[in-house]
Amino acid sequence: MADHSDIAAPGAVRTITSLTNPTIKDIRGLALPKNRKESGLFVTEGMKLVADAVEENWPIKILVYGAKVADHPVVKRVATTARARGGDVLEVSEAVLSKITRRDNPQMVVGVFEQKLTPKSEVRPGPAGVWVALEGIKDPGNLGTIIRTADAVGAEGVILVGDTVDPFGVEAVRATMGSIFHMKLARMAVDEFKAWRKGWPGIVVGTHLSGKSDYRAVDYDRPVMLFMGNEQSGLPDDLAALCDHLVKIPQAGRADSLNLAIATGVMLYEIRRDKLKL
Ligand code: SAM
Repeated sequence: MADHSDIAAPGAVRTITSLTNPTIKDIRGLALPKNRKESGLFVTEGMKLVADAVEENWPIKILVYGAKVADHPVVKRVATTARARGGDVLEVSEAVLSKITRRDNPQMVVGVFEQKLTPKSEVRPGPAGVWVALEGIKDPGNLGTIIRTADAVGAEGVILVGDTVDPFGVEAVRATMGSIFHMKLARMAVDEFKAWRKGWPGIVVGTHLSGKSDYRAVDYDRPVMLFMGNEQSGLPDDLAALCDHLVKIPQAGRADSLNLAIATGVMLYEIRRDKLKL
């Protein structure tokens, strides 16, 4: 991203109404994977999500809010924190927010944050901890939904294996509904994952349409890595071979498989069944 820090004194709120302002163009440009990769930044939209991220200490680089919410107590609090952490704070027109978010009815608050991944040395489960490993996942809505569901059941984190969709894309972040800020997220190449898996202290349970066990027949009372295949072709043989159990979710109708995020949700609720008793 270009350095526009000369435009206003540090700590000041800048007011922007020009749609051609270079900072605004840079933020809009973060919709492109190439720009997110180069800058290491990403965008999140909505007052609650931005406030959650700041509360969870995600490094905020730019806070953008619409003039009409300038006096909202949450916006004031987030702006104070963002400035204290060296972030840029921009008060903008609704037209500018529409330009950034590419929407007619834009969210009134947008945050630009640094991306954060958990190194594989820190992917260590608690005594009955659950991690979800996703091989080659391609759909951002599925990924966001899985991160949100993993958060909901109290899983510890999600590992992206191989070539996957970017978890920091706008659609994926939106689908997490804020869970991306609460969950650990790690990334490994396929060979790296194969080597690292040897040190995993619990069981690895893969889901497979030709799995031999019913998913309810496994004892999950130990650290579990749930390994899900991708949307198109499922777990390839070399990765299926890394699993202690290959399980199937029974189906009765004519659908040939479940959607990936739905299958992950069914699995996670079974794995965490005893922990989720109300
Ligand atoms: N044609 C793919 C295949 O043969 O695996 C279908 C993939 S399915 C849409 C996406 C993923 O969800 C699968 O790789 C598997 O991990 C999981 N999945 C979907 N339905 C399942 C079921 N009934 N039992 C076990 N896993 C399932």
